[in-house]
Amino acid sequence: MIPIDIPLTHAYLKGMVQINSVNPGLVPGGAGEAEIAAWLARTCRELGLDVQLQETAPGRPNVLACWPGRGKGKSLLLTGHTDVVGTANMPGDPFDGRVDDGRLYGRGSLDMKGGLAAILGAVAALRTDGFHPAGDIWLGFVTDEEYLSVGMDALVQQVHTDAAILTEPTGLDICIAHKGFAWLTLTTHGKAAHGSLYETGVDAIAHMGRVLGALERLNREILPQRQHALLGRASAHASLISGGLGLSTYPDRCTLQVEHRLLPDDTPEDVLELWHRLLGELQAADLQVSAEVKLDFTRPGYEINRDAPIVQALHHAYVPVMGAAPNYSGLYAWLDSAILGRSGIPTVIFGPGGEGMHAAVEYVNLDDVYQCAAVLAQTAAAWTGN
Ligand SMILES: [Zn+2]
Repeated sequence: MIPIDIPLTHAYLKGMVQINSVNPGLVPGGAGEAEIAAWLARTCRELGLDVQLQETAPGRPNVLACWPGRGKGKSLLLTGHTDVVGTANMPGDPFDGRVDDGRLYGRGSLDMKGGLAAILGAVAALRTDGFHPAGDIWLGFVTDEEYLSVGMDALVQQVHTDAAILTEPTGLDICIAHKGFAWLTLTTHGKAAHGSLYETGVDAIAHMGRVLGALERLNREILPQRQHALLGRASAHASLISGGLGLSTYPDRCTLQVEHRLLPDDTPEDVLELWHRLLGELQAADLQVSAEVKLDFTRPGYEINRDAPIVQALHHAYVPVMGAAPNYSGLYAWLDSAILGRSGIPTVIFGPGGEGMHAAVEYVNLDDVYQCAAVLAQTAAAWTGN
């Protein structure tokens, strides 16, 4: 077994949690990823890695670090995001990195600086152990996962490895599937008229009520018909609605923004087709209804086979470190693994546990971080070869 330097890994974690890296796309004026990128670049250089910064948006660089292999081994990417969500709802200093009862607290401790610390702890352990990889080991610290994922979109333009491990928090489960999402805008068209002219006006907001009824039916009757073993069912909900011209006017238009959460094999075309059918039914029932649907943004879900070589490699490294067989799971949330998978890099998700992602109180379990590091070191050694 490759021993992890626990104080060093702890220091990595605390150092990163104490850097404010709130995503400025999500929270206007957020600090962004520049400072943590500089910290990571310096730390990776201290570990003897080749480091490059990759600009993903002005002042928001990815850190890509390579430990070049000596020969023909398989290459591996260890990766995670450096941005965190906002802190408005958090009591006290959200970046103090306070430790209590085996937990380290702070915004981003769980999501996902714990996973980043595990990556650094694993590489430090391999260096100290005198390991020389045959295949390249890449570290990818990317921006903007919490908003539009421009960081991972940029990384896959430059890094092409034989596999990747994304260290998002999984509670030390091996995560092999997650959901995708699609954002849609539905619009109903009415006819503006003086509020007294009931024979002329067509009420676009009332017609949107029927669309909302269809959304409820979609959620209650249609989407539950398909179930995924790890992810359950797809779902959809109303997010934002607007319409109306004034108290004494029939509304000419109403817009509704809707979010769908997709199973890995759902496509945005499937979602649009479903809505075309539902809107068609509303229009067939009442010729005055005029409604349309538009796809605004989508990210696919992701799934990797349990028998995939990188999943098996992680499994075989896990058992001796943890003294038990791993638990396999899926995550409802969307993750950057979908981008890696689409770019042809088989990816598995494995990271520490804790509580409070995006919540008022967030912490990561310190023992999980160290155990995650040990499993990553073992996996990287076996995968890339000595
Ligand atoms: Zn995350």
